[in-house]
Amino acid sequence: TTAAVSAQDIADGVRAHELDREHVFHSWQAQGPFTPMTILKAEGSYVWDGEGNKLLDLSSQLVNTNIGHQHPKVVAAIQEQAGKLCTIAPQHVNDARSEAARLIAELTPGDLNHVFFTNGGADAVEHAIRMARLHTGKHKVLAAYRSYHGGTQLAVNVTGDPRRFANDHSDSGVVHFMPAYGYRSYFASTTEAEETERALRHLEDMIVLEGASNIGALILESIPGTAGIYMPPAGYMAGVRELTRKYGIVFIADEVMAGFGRSGKWFSINHWDITPDLITFAKGVNSGYVPLGGVAISDAIFETFRDRAYPGGLTYSGHPLACAAAVATIEAMKEEGMVENSARLGEDIIGPALRAMAAKHPSVGDVRGAGCFWAVELVKNRETREPLAPYGGSSPEMNQVVGALKAEGILPFANFNRIHVVPALNISDEDLLTGLAALDKALDVADGFVEA
Ligand code: PMP
Repeated sequence: TTAAVSAQDIADGVRAHELDREHVFHSWQAQGPFTPMTILKAEGSYVWDGEGNKLLDLSSQLVNTNIGHQHPKVVAAIQEQAGKLCTIAPQHVNDARSEAARLIAELTPGDLNHVFFTNGGADAVEHAIRMARLHTGKHKVLAAYRSYHGGTQLAVNVTGDPRRFANDHSDSGVVHFMPAYGYRSYFASTTEAEETERALRHLEDMIVLEGASNIGALILESIPGTAGIYMPPAGYMAGVRELTRKYGIVFIADEVMAGFGRSGKWFSINHWDITPDLITFAKGVNSGYVPLGGVAISDAIFETFRDRAYPGGLTYSGHPLACAAAVATIEAMKEEGMVENSARLGEDIIGPALRAMAAKHPSVGDVRGAGCFWAVELVKNRETREPLAPYGGSSPEMNQVVGALKAEGILPFANFNRIHVVPALNISDEDLLTGLAALDKALDVADGFVEA
């Protein structure tokens, strides 16, 4: 227990937990057995749990708080905006939204000069697909297996992880393709170049077999996040851009998780110097301090809706509090060099540390990432690559590894057989090293499950 949390805070937290279990319906959970962790407060890279324990947040709250918790500049901007104008109908101009749109248009590549604001990532995906369908007049959507695009109907249909299964609609118009994923190659590739070539050939086959004349959009995370931070091999994204251009398909780069400095560039698509037709964003745009997402739109797609009404909208499109938070977040990221820092942390600290762990721990099958966006994939057997937890599930072994991290004072992000190292972009070097040392120790537990 730390002095930062009072006995009263802890008592309030206990009450909140009781009320939660009685009245709050949680995302993705069987409501009965779920035992959520209470968070009493947070600051920078730390959170305090219901017992007052101070934990290092290596999860960034679903890879969201890129600038850490309670950044004073952003908190002040929200307070100032709240004192001036809390909300306004979306058809009116508000200065926070205008400035946020200008800043985002400036940061996005190429001619993505227009921004439609949403409440989060899933509705950004919904609207991007709607724009693509209307722009092309074509209905089908290509999306990758091993992806996550959100929990609303169409967003979960394009999602390529098991959360889709219970929500699938055969009439969604979505067709999934195999992504380039070198560690578990679907194309039996043994080199990066081979993976790129074969994955692109597969994608072109899919387009031809599904009928290019039917396919309006292709959605792909610039770096797939929740599904394992697996880096597209060299040449793959440029190849996807080429194929979508060749067949008249709108290329939607989903940057909801990978954007706003997460991988050491403002947008992860910047790693490959290409310009998609649409970018979906959320999370890092204002570090989630107030719900906000959006679609950055190319000039060409904008033209489709110059004289034709866009059939879609949201009461909170460009909400003043959310947009004021976005302006302050982007300014703080620039002033404090957070994107550069993210790149440096990945190159100088996280990458080398994880590679050293991979050399030392037989349970580590693969490490990969960039910036503050890394995954450690755990296996029972390096030869067969049998995962420490099955695809789409958990295992007692993984739970023990996660438990060991928590015992070391870490709030981790774990998914299936992976631990994701996704700290705030402005985490101190010292805190980051502490977190990595805790991971190193927890991997000893994972090593215990490796088959002799
Ligand atoms: N796309 C990607 C790539 C995501 O990571 C997420 C959320 N993790 C979403 C879309 C959905 O965003 P939201 O939860 O804000 O609806």
